[in-house]
Amino acid sequence: MAMKIVQCWDDGVLDDIRLVEILRRHGAKASFNLNLGTQPAERKASWRFRDIKDVWKLGKDELRDVYQGFTIANHSAKHLNLPKVSPEEAREDIRVGRDLLEQFFGCPVTGFVYPGGGFSDEVEAMVAEAGHIYARTTRNVACSFPPERPMALHSNCHFAAGDFWSRFELAKAENHPVFYFWGHAYEMITDDEWAAMDAKIARLSADPDCEWAELPDLF
Ligand SMILES: [Zn+2]
Repeated sequence: MAMKIVQCWDDGVLDDIRLVEILRRHGAKASFNLNLGTQPAERKASWRFRDIKDVWKLGKDELRDVYQGFTIANHSAKHLNLPKVSPEEAREDIRVGRDLLEQFFGCPVTGFVYPGGGFSDEVEAMVAEAGHIYARTTRNVACSFPPERPMALHSNCHFAAGDFWSRFELAKAENHPVFYFWGHAYEMITDDEWAAMDAKIARLSADPDCEWAELPDLF
């Protein structure tokens, strides 16, 4: 059976435009994790990445076009570090995040991604209660599926990990059902890094032993 490949990208940033062009060109599926409560009405420089690049959030007015055909997942309304805020605030940020996305995109939103990777037993329970079927952490493990706890779903690999291909080939050799990678498109800065991403997606799409899948379909 073909190994399923899934990928997801966080934060609703301008660089996603360059990324989705690559993904569409190679017929790759992907999920984008958004926090609509902090999305500006129009494009806006929002923070600095490693002191070398301004990260721009996309404007709300362009989100439907940019993410047309991709899966949308909840990254909480305001990107709060959920274990660090009060339970009431955490519960609200999770629930409102999902409601805003479902209303805005007019489709069910069933996936969750912990802002900053922060989670706890209590937060996991809140995410499940709010109706999500999986929640991604920022931990990377050799084998991601089936997850011990769907509300603590780890991925196999960050997209820029130096051992990306050895992890991928090992997962294939060991007949893992799923290979899952993630990242932020703003982490790509140079044209070489973008070309590497293009080549990576091309190689994955061309692999006869694999097929792209949508994250919610795995549950
Ligand atoms: Zn984030």
